[in-house]
Formats: sequence, C-alpha cells, structure tokens
Amino acid sequence: MTESSDRKSGGHLTLWIIVAIVLAISVSIFVPIIGLSGFEKGTDEFTTREETLKGIFEAISFGGEIFLRVLKMLVVPLVVLSVMSGVLGMGDVRKLGRPGFVAITFYLATTVLAVFLGLAMVNLLKPGGADIDRAQAEAIVQNEANAEKIKENRETVEQGGALGIVKNLGLMIFTDNLFNSAAKSDLLPLIVFSLVFAGLLTTLGERVEIITKVIDQANHAMMAFVMLVMAFAPLGIFCLVAGRFGKEMLDDTFVQTMKLVWWYSVTVVGGLAIHSLVTLPLILWVITRRNPYRFIVQMGQSLLTAFSTASSSATLPVTMECAVDRAGVSRKSVDFVLPLGATINMDGTALYEAVAAIFIAQFLGRDLSLAQQMVVAVTATLAAIGAAGIPEAGLVTMLIVLNAVGLPLEYQALILPVDWLLDRFRTTVNVFGDACGAAIVDRSFPAAEIASTT
Ligand code: ASP
Repeated sequence: MTESSDRKSGGHLTLWIIVAIVLAISVSIFVPIIGLSGFEKGTDEFTTREETLKGIFEAISFGGEIFLRVLKMLVVPLVVLSVMSGVLGMGDVRKLGRPGFVAITFYLATTVLAVFLGLAMVNLLKPGGADIDRAQAEAIVQNEANAEKIKENRETVEQGGALGIVKNLGLMIFTDNLFNSAAKSDLLPLIVFSLVFAGLLTTLGERVEIITKVIDQANHAMMAFVMLVMAFAPLGIFCLVAGRFGKEMLDDTFVQTMKLVWWYSVTVVGGLAIHSLVTLPLILWVITRRNPYRFIVQMGQSLLTAFSTASSSATLPVTMECAVDRAGVSRKSVDFVLPLGATINMDGTALYEAVAAIFIAQFLGRDLSLAQQMVVAVTATLAAIGAAGIPEAGLVTMLIVLNAVGLPLEYQALILPVDWLLDRFRTTVNVFGDACGAAIVDRSFPAAEIASTT
C-alpha cells in the first residue's frame, strides 16, 4: 500500500470509529429508556426487565474485553522491539541524549502547566462551594461499596506516601526480573533494559548482525499486527463503549452523582479541553510550526481509542501507528518517546488530581492556603508521573495528594461514581500529550537524520 492510500484508509477508519462511538452512546442511553418505559420502578417486572438489560450490556462488554485484551497483548513486545530498533536505527545510544532530555523536559513542563491550569479553574469556578445537596453527598460518602473501594486504594497508597512515590519512581526504573515486569506491563524497566541492550548491540558490530536484523524485522511485523487489530477497532470500540456506558446508565448511582457533582465534572472537562485545545497546540505550533488541529485529526484513531479504553498503555500500539503512518512523525522519535510518554506523561491525570483535591477541600469548607495549594501542585505532578496507564489509576495516586494536605480520604467517594467517565477524557489528553512530545522531539534530532526517516 502506498503512503497516501494508507492515510486515506486511516481516515475512513477514524470515521468508522466515530460512528461506532456515537452509536454506542446512543444505544446505551436509549435502550434503557425504551426498554424500561411503561414499567413502574420498584415492581417485579421493572427489576426483571432491568436485569435483562444489564445482561445484554454485559454480553456486549465481552466483545470489548476481547478487543482490549488483544491491544494489551501487543504492548510489551511492541515497546521492547520499538525501543531497541529505534536505538539500532541510530547506531549509537548516545545520540538519544538530547532528544531524551527534550522529551523529559517537555513532559514535565506540560504536566506542571496542566496542574496550574487545574488549580486556576477550580479556584475560579469553585465547584465544591456550589449548592451541593449535603444530605445526598453524605449518603454517597457513607455508601459501603464506595468506602470499600477507597479502602482498597488506601492500602496501596499507605505503603508509599508522598516520599514513597519518589522512592517508587526510582525503583520503577529498575527491575530484578524482566519477565515479572513484562507480565505486569511495567514498561519503564523494559524501556531501560531495551535501551541498554540495543546500545550494547550497536557496539558489537558484525558479531550481532543477525539479532539486529531480527529485531528490526520483528518490529515491522508488530506494526503490521497493530494495523490488523485496528481493522476491528470500530466493532471493538462499539462493544467497549456501549457495554460500559449502558451498565452505568442502568445504575442510579452514576446518574445521581453526576447531577450532584456536575460543576466538578465541568471544571475537569473544561480544564482538559483548554489544555488539549489551547496549551498543547500552542506549544506544538511554536516549536514545530505544524498545524496542531490537523495533528489532532491525524491522531484521531489513537485519541478515540484512548477515550474508549481509558488506558494510555493499551492505546500505545495505536498511538505509535498513527504517529508514524498518519501524522508523519519520524520512526525514531516515535520508537522511544511514545513508550516513555505512555509511562510517565499524564497531563490529564495531573490536572484532574489537582481539581479533585481542591474540590473536596471546598466541599468541606476548608480554605487551603497558597502554600497548601503548592503542596497539591507538587504532589499531583508526582502522583501523575507515578500513575500507571490503566483505567482509574489516578484515583489511587490521588489519595497521596489528599493525604499531603490532610483531607479526609473517604470524601473521595464524592467523585468515585463519575470517575469512569472523566477517566476517558483525561486518558485522551494524556495520549495527546504523549503524541505532541513525539512530534516536538522530532525537531531535536540532527537535521540529516530527520531527512532520512519517516
Ligand atoms: N486512565 C489513565 C491513563 O491510562 C490514568 C488515570 O488517570 O487514571 O492514562
């Protein structure tokens, strides 16, 4: 297939994915409404009907689960192979010094910007001070299922704490067992190993000619695998979205909580929108002179997959494929910057953690001083770096932020029932931030090398 026909078919696929998402959301809203109309709540018939509908949405979820599994299956081999072939393609791991520095600086700087934007929005809009129905809010906080979930998250966090996160970040880089890390999809140690291993290969010359070729060819085969899986994306994404949205629409807790914390949700989504439609595009344009909105369209499949899976890690194969084949970012930037970004760069998560912490403080009537808000900013940044690229990981690391400023952890229950939805928006922003990083790093490779790639 030629490059332009590749891009065209990619465009069609993006359209199909959009259709799938719209259809899935419509099904999840209208099927419960139509299916339950005419039945009175509380009656046996209503309950039976509701159970049947839940069963249908569960069956649809099954298809989504399979799609998600296949995507996740590709992540570890793809990261290892792409990082290695990226280094091998350059011929010397030392050439990664400058691009690596640019990538880490960009990722850190944009995360900090996102946190400050979140802080500004939440202080301006004051969603926690609005007329929240206190009795209903307290009922959500007392809800046993919510309390149980927070307890689980708490146990994970209490082993760490704020200082623990820094220590954990250090430990996250190294592993005592590569296979263990691969099994847990811990990407950071795999990236480090791949960098060093491929770096050594470049020094061994002819003796490692075959393995060098194998890595490069296997990497190409993996990308073809990703394209094959993406052919099923519209169906997989339909099942993922319809299954989850349908389940939640049938659950009173979600609808009621959404009404209760509407302004909080608007603050988070508004902040995410500004970060992804103004801040990141501006930085991208200033540094690369690329049309940022075209870039968003080119990365469409990846952004929609992020929205559907709520996992930047599972989306990584699609992000890499889109960045190279559709957005024309050089292979070598994509090969090592995107795996790194999917692991450490989470602008959306950082913004949301800062908003959530201040929202809870506002709800409790606690005025956080400027110094305390700075503590929120620092811990939210660290917490986002430490969060895994999996669904609702931000909820766990957010407890560190709440702990740091002495807010009661059980009040996280207020935002728990709507988190599955907000997670989709922040994951999309996380992935877009990763992609911008790859496009920007492209500029920091020596000019001759840019010309020879893509
Ligand atoms: N789901 C997010 C991601 O995968 C992490 C989070 O904020 O929960 O990027």
